[in-house]
Amino acid sequence: MAVIGAGFGGIGMGVALKRAGFEDFVIFEKSADVGGVWRDNTYPGCNCDVPSHLYSFTFAPYRDRHIRYPGQRQILEYLRRVAVECDLMPHLRLGTAITAATYLEQQGRWELATATGRSVADVVVFAVGQLHRPYLPDIEGRTDFAGLSFHTAEWDHRHDLRGRDIAVIGTGSSAAQILPTLAAAAARVHLFQRTPHWVLPKPPAEFGPLARAGLSLPGAHHFYRQALDHGADALLAPIMRRGWSARPAAWLARRYLHRQVPDPALRAKLTPDYPIGGKRIIFDSHYYPTLNRPNVELVTEPVTGIVGDGLVTADGTCHRVDVIVYATGFRAPEFLVPVVVRGREGRVLHEQWRTGASAFFGLAVPGYPNAFLIAGPNSFNPAGSNPAMKERQIDYILDCLRLRDRLGAAAIEVDEEAMRAHRRWLDRAIAKTVWPITGPSWYKDRAGRVTNPWPASARTYERMLRNHRPVACFRAVSADTPYPRHGRPAPAVTRCSTPVASPAVS
Ligand code: NAP
Repeated sequence: MAVIGAGFGGIGMGVALKRAGFEDFVIFEKSADVGGVWRDNTYPGCNCDVPSHLYSFTFAPYRDRHIRYPGQRQILEYLRRVAVECDLMPHLRLGTAITAATYLEQQGRWELATATGRSVADVVVFAVGQLHRPYLPDIEGRTDFAGLSFHTAEWDHRHDLRGRDIAVIGTGSSAAQILPTLAAAAARVHLFQRTPHWVLPKPPAEFGPLARAGLSLPGAHHFYRQALDHGADALLAPIMRRGWSARPAAWLARRYLHRQVPDPALRAKLTPDYPIGGKRIIFDSHYYPTLNRPNVELVTEPVTGIVGDGLVTADGTCHRVDVIVYATGFRAPEFLVPVVVRGREGRVLHEQWRTGASAFFGLAVPGYPNAFLIAGPNSFNPAGSNPAMKERQIDYILDCLRLRDRLGAAAIEVDEEAMRAHRRWLDRAIAKTVWPITGPSWYKDRAGRVTNPWPASARTYERMLRNHRPVACFRAVSADTPYPRHGRPAPAVTRCSTPVASPAVS
């Protein structure tokens, strides 16, 4: 078996395979380390706006009485420890980027190409995530800039930014997290905003004494995680569907803006004109206060060009800067690019997805037998924990593997009719959300189709997966070679249930 990617999805899949008794698998990772986005994003101030208890695997609960929200380094450390403690290291092929995956119909197997060779696998699981390829905007003259420039996910740590004039393009979660640190060091920060995001305050990153005492009670960590999980479903998920919590959340965000930003002109620029939840909500308590600083300027004139020493806006102003930080997000709707995926009868996945990326619960596509996705189309949870969503997908993929074993089939694939029915449900669910009536974001592809987020609660996802068992939705695909008998699922033998302690707060 081949798993591609060693972030939350790939590591979670690896541990699940081991626990189910599969030992014959390899995790290919393009980089030199595990961690996915938490390895790549090292920008100053990078942290997670999902509480650490929820932002961890259920089999390796992140139990800490100090840290409420983890920082980038803590999450990366956590993933490294899970990989080591769950004995995944021998399965990892680091520094190995898969460039193509081709289904060999005669054998019912996948051929995976790398820059240096080929491997063959019975099953392939794409766990490459959605936010791993930086997006750089196509602004005229971008390459003419003579100063330093980089994307938030490719932070260049070799340079001292103290006392510099810095431009930040974009005002999403990454920009909001980076701004306070930059503003404290730079001479001046010019923040270029195209669209204001909705912002809600975030509790302090560390627990207070009362919460710490509470968390020392038996079962408290588990109870807290459950409360967070159900709370996200009950409070945040309805916001995206204009449900009961949308108005209170919008009211809270406006009130928060009003309290944090005294200047009415600045406030007006920061007030979104689309429904809350239309783009991912920013949870941050330092972003608005930083915008009041005298060395921070919010520029709302569109950037029309970049020249050797600065950025030119539509009003003709040239904003001279030493550094440009692109906080412009990721090529999320492209999903598996640059891997060329070829399925049955010569179909090519990205050609098929030209009319919009689509997959059965974000995890399988008809015509691609024995191929699974983790965090595929329309399975990003904008209102809760994505590691938890991935665990649900991993459990389902394991059930598919068990079905394949039971059928004695070389390969199984999701049924066309099951996919069509799911698509119909998705279209109806998406129509009820605020995304179709909001402008562009990484939730949508260039044509405006909502391809990335899951349009309901995490609980609904779980329930629907339970109601769409593989036995009813997948079918055997014949191949000339008999089913390979190695790697049969066995009862769970390996467990990784040791709580993974977080490192001391630095
Ligand atoms: P993002 O949310 O996609 O934001 C990109 C920003 O760049 C937007 O403000 C966008 O403006 C702007 N932009 C793009 N092209 C532009 C152009 N040509 N001119 C001016 N502005 C331009 O990207 P992100 O902030 O990196 O965040 C991506 C996702 O990563 C988040 O939504 C979140 O899911 C995840 N993330 C999570 C955390 C966490 O704490 N868990 C932290 C960071 C990131 P428009 O809005 O007008 O398009």
